[in-house]
Amino acid sequence: MELRFGKYKGQRFDNTPKWYQEWLLKQDWFKMPKQQKPLHKQLNGWDGQSRKGQAVYDAIFEQEKSELQKHDCIIGICSCCEGGMYYGN
Ligand SMILES: [Zn+2]
Repeated sequence: MELRFGKYKGQRFDNTPKWYQEWLLKQDWFKMPKQQKPLHKQLNGWDGQSRKGQAVYDAIFEQEKSELQKHDCIIGICSCCEGGMYYGN
């Protein structure tokens, strides 16, 4: 499947980094096509314009961003933790 959101938008799920795949699969809102759950279900049929659709999309993206930020902290390439590679930038 091709990802339609986030950092790896437009890329095949299989081609994304392993840590990203594992993280995605752990998210309640992300399920592979056959077992969709609430957030993704709400996106079905979204014409790209309704406010509700946009809000759902934003929620997914914000959640993803905060998780990616955490990952950056964990592997030490963030700018928010003392000792991170980009600390102070
Ligand atoms: Zn940090």
